[in-house]
Amino acid sequence: MPTLRELTEYHKPETIEEALKLLRRTSLKTVPLAGGTSLVPSAAHDVQAVVDLSALGLSYVKGLSIGATTTLQTIVEHAELRAYADGVLTAAILDSASRQTREGATLAGSIISAAGNSPLFTALLALDARLTVRTGRGTREEEVALPYFTPQPRALILQVTLPVLNDGAHAAYEKVARTPADLPIVCVAARATIDQGELRDIRLALGGVGEKPIVITQPSGSIEELAQLAVATVTPGDDYFASADYRREMIGVLTKRVLSNLKR
Ligand SMILES: Cc1cc2nc3c(=O)[nH]c(=O)nc-3n(C[C@H](O)[C@H](O)[C@H](O)COP(=O)(O)OP(=O)(O)OC[C@H]3O[C@@H](n4cnc5c(N)ncnc54)[C@H](O)[C@@H]3O)c2cc1C
Repeated sequence: MPTLRELTEYHKPETIEEALKLLRRTSLKTVPLAGGTSLVPSAAHDVQAVVDLSALGLSYVKGLSIGATTTLQTIVEHAELRAYADGVLTAAILDSASRQTREGATLAGSIISAAGNSPLFTALLALDARLTVRTGRGTREEEVALPYFTPQPRALILQVTLPVLNDGAHAAYEKVARTPADLPIVCVAARATIDQGELRDIRLALGGVGEKPIVITQPSGSIEELAQLAVATVTPGDDYFASADYRREMIGVLTKRVLSNLKR
């Protein structure tokens, strides 16, 4: 079986059309290559060709739109994104990867390879991020909300867009982990509007409870009600980090914590 080091082909196209044409081929198993921090060490043994996305001009931040190949480090250094949503995006990225990894890892690569406890994916769900995607067959770009996005072999994420927040909107992120430097056992991110002291338009994202983080949306609710809803919604499994019961309980604790932390 060939490893990634024994690839038959490496391509670095300069247009999205060219990249998609390469990805559409059925004769060789061809995959996109972004920062390579996940793909290179862990590529499926049947990968025969890679399409390097670095020359497609997708490394940019324009307002609240972030190009797919923008590195995580670029995002945390960007003043507007650092201030966005009370700094939750930055906090989640800093909690997701070391400086060395952030320098190479891209936003889209991190979304595709996100594990169920990914702080970044959890934060993007709470923030209501939308993806601009091109599929292999389609000739048009499609915009899809993150919860409805399913990675497809011959598709490319082109851009991630965050919504403009109203004045009363706030966000927070919390986790429990073995140590502060570890990835979360479970994590919770929330975004809500504070209207006369009440929570409105609530988005609660829960990580570490399944294959991917999940999101709950509610028009309103008290902190206690939302914590109960979060606990009732999740069906985590046991593993060597924590039991299902512990995860469920911590989801309740963290939900109360993030909602209490939203600036009032
Ligand atoms: C030393 C080290 C430490 C790490 N630590 C952590 C950690 O603490 N936490 C953590 O979450 N992760 C960690 N990772 C994993 C890795 O950093 C992340 O998964 C990373 O964000 C992947 O991004 P990338 O740009 O390198 O993607 P790549 O490795 O290039 O690609 C990942 C996947 O995404 C696909 N892909 C990439 N871009 C696109 C696109 N635009 N459209 C469609 N598909 C695309 C690729 O085909 C591949 O399947 C670590 C990795 C290393 C090497």
